[in-house]
Amino acid sequence: MQEKFDFIVIGGGVVGSMIARWLSRYEASVLLIEKEADIGMGCSSANTAIVHAGYDPMPGSLKAKMNVRGNPMWDQLAGELNFAFERRGDYVVAIGDEEIPLVEKLMEQGKKNGVPGMIMLNGAEVRAREKNINPEVAGALWASTGGICDPFQVTVAAAENAVMNGVKVMLNTAFLGFITEGNRIIGVRTNHEDFLARWTINSAGMYSDDVMHKAGVRPEFLIKARRGEYFVFDRADIQIDNVLFPVPSSKGKGILVTTTVHGNTVVGPTGTVIDDKEDSSTSTEGLQELADGAKKLIPGLNLKYAIATFSGLRPMGNAPTKTPGLNYNADYIIEIPEDVQVFVNLGGIESPGLTSAPAIAEMVVDLLKDAGEPLVEKKDWDPIRPARPRFRDMTHKERQLLCEMDPRFGRVICRCENVTEGEIIAEVHAPIPAITYDAIKRRTWLGTGRCQGGFDMPRVVNILARELGISPTEVTKRGHGSEYLYRPTKEVED
Ligand SMILES: Cc1cc2nc3c(=O)[nH]c(=O)nc-3n(C[C@H](O)[C@H](O)[C@H](O)COP(=O)(O)OP(=O)(O)OC[C@H]3O[C@@H](n4cnc5c(N)ncnc54)[C@H](O)[C@@H]3O)c2cc1C
Repeated sequence: MQEKFDFIVIGGGVVGSMIARWLSRYEASVLLIEKEADIGMGCSSANTAIVHAGYDPMPGSLKAKMNVRGNPMWDQLAGELNFAFERRGDYVVAIGDEEIPLVEKLMEQGKKNGVPGMIMLNGAEVRAREKNINPEVAGALWASTGGICDPFQVTVAAAENAVMNGVKVMLNTAFLGFITEGNRIIGVRTNHEDFLARWTINSAGMYSDDVMHKAGVRPEFLIKARRGEYFVFDRADIQIDNVLFPVPSSKGKGILVTTTVHGNTVVGPTGTVIDDKEDSSTSTEGLQELADGAKKLIPGLNLKYAIATFSGLRPMGNAPTKTPGLNYNADYIIEIPEDVQVFVNLGGIESPGLTSAPAIAEMVVDLLKDAGEPLVEKKDWDPIRPARPRFRDMTHKERQLLCEMDPRFGRVICRCENVTEGEIIAEVHAPIPAITYDAIKRRTWLGTGRCQGGFDMPRVVNILARELGISPTEVTKRGHGSEYLYRPTKEVED
């Protein structure tokens, strides 16, 4: 007997998790399936973490609409879900007078999109706000509604809140195809079992083209991966206080220099279209491009302080905007296709997809209501996902009280980021259990400092094995096939 749900969401990135959370508000059964060992392992885990103001997308596009609607939703969202979010504004910086018209054009575009709180600053004003800026700065667009967040926390918090409100999340569960009755989709086949559903929602990011083609929708729509490489800097050595964009080019928003909610400076991303949808490597050329781009904004940035490189893959679609007269080929798809009912289809959700995620979730619910779905609000829906203790952010007094309650919070496992055993254990037993090293890392920020996990990894492996009741040889970095250990050699003192 196949289990039946009202809604099945395919893909547990920030968009799928947000949709699951939005649907959890209503009297309905919801299943979220994710092919990886954790949620948020795709595009949502490797991006610039900026909540964009909305001056960048093409006016009239669905991207612009979702960005500008999504941005103001973040204050309430961060308050309810308890993730790190700072609305500190952002700058688009003109280096030299010749770049000023480009910045002014962006401001005009922002006004057309309905972005509030933008002003032009002159060179002296920018220099006063960012001491490390290129002295040749001629001015900047200052967008006060720009923000930064921890995108891992956002995805986890949204999905956890969904689970707290009754959503079922299945990890390591890959969508393989649809179960149909005549032309009607009645469920999904997965690598584990089949599930029946009244509605299926395609939120599969990089593979959303594959999902929609299996539903018989938009055979011409294809997703290409556009890789973005990054440098991460040690916050002890260099700290930039702001989010600094260069003027955009035909390749996109350009190489920015930004701070993160954890205080690290990050440089990136590049924008290289590649054939392999899984190739998140970094390249010599990409890193050189980053170095050149960063120096344009912050000439004093010294690459010797870089502690990590990584890359993320944008799911770049080829869907034209619906606005007449606009020749723009990379808009979002958010629709219930006319010829395939009971299927909500999303595609091409590249940047600003993180910013837009709550607005996309809201739009999905609106589409369902417009399609006649009787969504009745639960009386006991709880929007709050409580925060878990973060040792590094606490005062001495708070730390002392916590350690008295549970001495495992007094045992520091990650020395760079001050993450304790108590925090790791709390994540293993959270509403969506963190069962891999990377899942712990994404949730606690452990392993992201100067030693890049060199000290904490063996200890985390032991803690995971103990808490999950498995052998250390079964503990993985990011799921099956990424085990750390082959065989026991000697007893490790814990
Ligand atoms: C380099 C870069 C920089 C960016 N910077 C920003 C930024 O600063 N601000 C911003 O707003 N946006 C930014 N973005 C965009 C943003 O990260 C994405 O738009 C957003 O994360 C998309 O979320 P998603 O849930 O649609 O996709 P994903 O996070 O990729 O989630 C899709 C999920 O579906 C799963 N899946 C796929 N196929 C299957 C299957 N068959 N069965 C089950 N599960 C499946 C995947 O494993 C994945 O977890 C950036 C993106 C990149 C790559």
